[in-house]
Amino acid sequence: ALIVSGLIGLALTFFGSLFLADRALIPIKKSWQRQKDFIADASHELRTPLAVIQTNLELVLDNPRETVESQFKWLENIQIESKRMTKLVDDLLFLARADFHEEMQDMACFPLDLAVKEALAPFEPVAVKKGITLESSIVPNLSILGNETRLKQLIVILLDNAIKYTPAGGSIVLELKDKGSHIEISVQDSGEGIETVHLEKIFERFYRVDKARSRQSGGTGLGLAIAECIVKEHRGTIKVFSTPGQGTTFQVSLPKSSRRGR
Ligand code: ADP
Repeated sequence: ALIVSGLIGLALTFFGSLFLADRALIPIKKSWQRQKDFIADASHELRTPLAVIQTNLELVLDNPRETVESQFKWLENIQIESKRMTKLVDDLLFLARADFHEEMQDMACFPLDLAVKEALAPFEPVAVKKGITLESSIVPNLSILGNETRLKQLIVILLDNAIKYTPAGGSIVLELKDKGSHIEISVQDSGEGIETVHLEKIFERFYRVDKARSRQSGGTGLGLAIAECIVKEHRGTIKVFSTPGQGTTFQVSLPKSSRRGR
């Protein structure tokens, strides 16, 4: 009986450790799968502009006697797609570096209110052109310990989306508030909104509610993934509230003295 119970004990330990080892591998397998999906998606996304560039190049080369207007149109298509590829590669590089926490090394104390104003300024003429009211309420003298370039990039991503997904006649409000130990940034738009089924997925890399529309407006589907990365590296949170047909609000909360988050 002693030997049998000893053997059972040994078997239990053996299978138990196998089970534990397998469980310990689950996060590694998941992260490996995530990387594989990311590479597959990235290759697919890069293929589309490359195909358009190749087709238009062939048109130029095969039709030397075509009108200047046609040639110009083909060259313009090549220019649009190369710009898209450059943006895509920049975004991919950002995310690859961020995965290894290499992005946000330069943290310093800087006036966030001025940075937000600088990020906002280029959007004012764009909003006027699209017939959208763009308002802001920015608390003065608000400093934060963070990466200035990246926090400006965060504001740009949120404003860019708000403009893209709000039709003419709509409005956008950008707010910067002092909440004591935290700072709150919110971008509220009166645009098309996001259905609940999509809400939790929009921060995923390459996730787009309407792929064709996003592509048409120059989107890569990486904006919100980058925004979330920037916020996490500042130990902050980003939330989204949306009502389809009424609008969307992105709300970011950042500690004033964040250290690099892991
Ligand atoms: P994209 O380059 O497509 O804009 P993002 O990662 O920035 O990629 O956004 C992901 C998706 O989330 C968008 O394709 C869009 O469907 C949705 N989205 C983001 N911001 C808004 C917004 N302000 N209003 C409505 N939908 C939005």
